[in-house]
Amino acid sequence: MSGTSTERQAGGVTGFTDNPVNAAMARVLDDVRREDHPGAVADYIPQLATADPEAFGVASVSVHGHSYGAGDYRVPFTIQSMSKPFVYALALEALGVEAVCARIGVEPSGEAFNGISFDPSGRPENPLINAGAIVSTSLIPGVDGAERFATIRDGLSRFAGRELELDEAVYRSESETGFRNLALAALARSTDALRVPIEDALDPYFRQCSLLVDAHDVAVMGGTLANGGVNPVTGERVVSTAVAQHVLSVMTGCGMYDRSGAWMVSVGIPAKSGVGGGIVAATPGEYGICVFSPPLDEAGNSSRGVAVLQRMSSEFGLHLLSRSMNPVSAVAAVTTDPATGHVVLRLRGEVDFVAVEEVVHEALSLGHAQSGSTIVLDLTDVTRISTVSAYLLNQLASDVGYGVRVIVQDPSSLCAARP
Ligand code: GLU
Repeated sequence: MSGTSTERQAGGVTGFTDNPVNAAMARVLDDVRREDHPGAVADYIPQLATADPEAFGVASVSVHGHSYGAGDYRVPFTIQSMSKPFVYALALEALGVEAVCARIGVEPSGEAFNGISFDPSGRPENPLINAGAIVSTSLIPGVDGAERFATIRDGLSRFAGRELELDEAVYRSESETGFRNLALAALARSTDALRVPIEDALDPYFRQCSLLVDAHDVAVMGGTLANGGVNPVTGERVVSTAVAQHVLSVMTGCGMYDRSGAWMVSVGIPAKSGVGGGIVAATPGEYGICVFSPPLDEAGNSSRGVAVLQRMSSEFGLHLLSRSMNPVSAVAAVTTDPATGHVVLRLRGEVDFVAVEEVVHEALSLGHAQSGSTIVLDLTDVTRISTVSAYLLNQLASDVGYGVRVIVQDPSSLCAARP
């Protein structure tokens, strides 16, 4: 972690004070703590009822591996349903998209976490409700439940970047009282979505839900999805980029149970909650975030957790769609070269299709407005260029009738050998 000391400051801000990012997250916690967010600690699993309702923390990890935290982000709790997207990712990685999607859908169910949600073909609606999660667990390779759980624990540990331990008391409590999950597993068995003995899916499912984590661990796990499947702290590739993108897509539509639509509007970050009081969120290419506060709202999501992520989304500008409405321009500067009279567009950063479309538009408008002049596209500060972008720039420079003279200055040969 980047922090080394916890302080309660005179202004009431609690958290690590050696980094302004920690202070900003601590401010969010303190603002939310002052507000009224009614909720109750889950008690349908008896052991969960012993959680401290005042525990409250947030952690985030950037795709560059920078860790931040405030409040109780080192307090252990059980991962519960936050395990679901990660086990689903492991199933996708092991079996491929087609085989997994033949058994579990990707549609929002609009129902509670323990809803009886199966589509007409008998598949659970998605992997983030219990019925679908139990099937995901059953798809993890293994001859029995014990072997399956060993693979799951290993995989989730690689997502977290450390060996995760089982909370035996929660596991026992959950398996002694999980009759509804037993019923859901039996239903999945009846539709053929579940094809292993019920115990060999249910027991590892109860165990995966009972793995102990803290908010920082889960932020690393979310950060691994945000980073395209590579753990940003250990550098290990845990799943492929395609799998990470698939899982984040499902989290976007289905992660917050029957509040998934409202969540997308007010927070707009792929996420998954758990009845232990955690919410994991991942902003693609940026951060993994985890908030922890045990009291839950009526939909089973951490009340303060939802409020923290709403605030972080708006104050830190993390809503997926708000950011696409404020794109960063790829054109850093437009100048005229005094020696040649050429108009120079200096490009920067990653030039994807959206960026190059802007550049093409700019070059054509300038070229047509100042007919006879030459437009230079300077790629010196460009770090990466997509195939379609290279194609468009090469097209522009090839002068096949666009009516402008364009030179691409490409010192790193980013566009070279691209058709
Ligand atoms: N282990 C819990 C259950 O299956 C997970 C539910 C949740 O976190 O939403 O009941």
